[in-house]
Amino acid sequence: MNDPYATSVAQLKKIAEILKLPSDIVTRLSVHDKFLEVHFPVTMDDGSVKLFTGYRAQHSNVRGPYKGGIRFSPFVNPSEIRALSMWMTWKCAIADIPFGGGKGGVIVDTKTLSESELERLSRAYLRAIYEIIGPTKDIPAPDMYTTSEMMGWMADEYGKLAHGYAPAVITAKPLEKDGSEGRTEATGLGGFYVLQNLAEREHLDPKQTTVAVQGIGNVGYYTARYAHDAGYRVIAIADSKHAIKNDQGIDVDAAIEFKKTHGSLEGMPGTTAISNDNLLTLPVDVFIPAATENVITSENAEAIKAKYVLEMANGPVTSDADMILEKKGIPVIPDVLANSGGVSVSYFEWYQNMHHEHWSKEKVFEELKKKMNSASEEIFAYKESHTISFRMAAYAVGVSRVVEAMKN
Ligand code: GLU
Repeated sequence: MNDPYATSVAQLKKIAEILKLPSDIVTRLSVHDKFLEVHFPVTMDDGSVKLFTGYRAQHSNVRGPYKGGIRFSPFVNPSEIRALSMWMTWKCAIADIPFGGGKGGVIVDTKTLSESELERLSRAYLRAIYEIIGPTKDIPAPDMYTTSEMMGWMADEYGKLAHGYAPAVITAKPLEKDGSEGRTEATGLGGFYVLQNLAEREHLDPKQTTVAVQGIGNVGYYTARYAHDAGYRVIAIADSKHAIKNDQGIDVDAAIEFKKTHGSLEGMPGTTAISNDNLLTLPVDVFIPAATENVITSENAEAIKAKYVLEMANGPVTSDADMILEKKGIPVIPDVLANSGGVSVSYFEWYQNMHHEHWSKEKVFEELKKKMNSASEEIFAYKESHTISFRMAAYAVGVSRVVEAMKN
């Protein structure tokens, strides 16, 4: 059975052994400071009222206010939200930003709702969790199937309840609603910087390096586009329905344009259609899962032929699969490092809001690059000196910082 929370606790225990942490610390960090379950009604366009269930987990705030996205998905469940919130604690510590870990979610299939229903749902969820969030308490952001527009609605709703607009309560807002330049590109661009660090370390020449990307939503698209622009050969991409391949490389922007006009990636000139399973097992240099969790599992890990896996989604490799890949000698660059560019620019947005500043895109990208480079260097160096996996090295860096803060 796949139980993400159990996985997150098992990972913590494993790292506690490496770091020789006392058991009371492990016990403390295994549980969340708070876990809120909410049920709230939303009026549908036809006048009927539907009841929704949502959650907000607050794992740890020893390094700063809780921070983490909100996902709208039919598969949202307490175990997943707890795990994702613990991972945010480590991710913020790895990125060395002054936040702890949180995560929220609502059980909903956004594809079945109209725009106005989504707005009412976003506002209703915000009202339901209002008491426990705030610019210095807990700062949400988007995650799967939530958008910057929704963040704008939620910031507005928070302002109404708080009797004053406080944009720093939520990040990744639209630009015209106090969002930050570059937040849209941030996760993908951050992942690209990590890829560059990896390439340098492993002496990979971008022009000779083939890449396959699963998922071309915001995260996958920008990762693929920056890689393509830097000369990497992105030979296969996939959305949730179709996968396409061209050994000479795919022009990512042209593929997105094609999808926009034709409604599907399939049929893009110069490419051949392959199955999603096929994409997973292509003999590429770097495979980038950028869609959802549990994509590489014990069922298919043996068949993975990539030389490296760069986790741009949260939790795309199950812990069983992780062990299989390790045995096969396929290094996995973990989500808590690879996709930390998103929350890093969220921090920049929060900082700008708190200080009434507006940074240029150049400044945001420059600061992001610094963050991603120093986190990568630190983790790569830790891995080298301790001969452990990238994931364990990243956790060691993150967990140590949290434990250090607990002493204060
Ligand atoms: N949902 C993103 C993540 O998992 C971003 C979180 C944030 O910006 O707070 O890292």
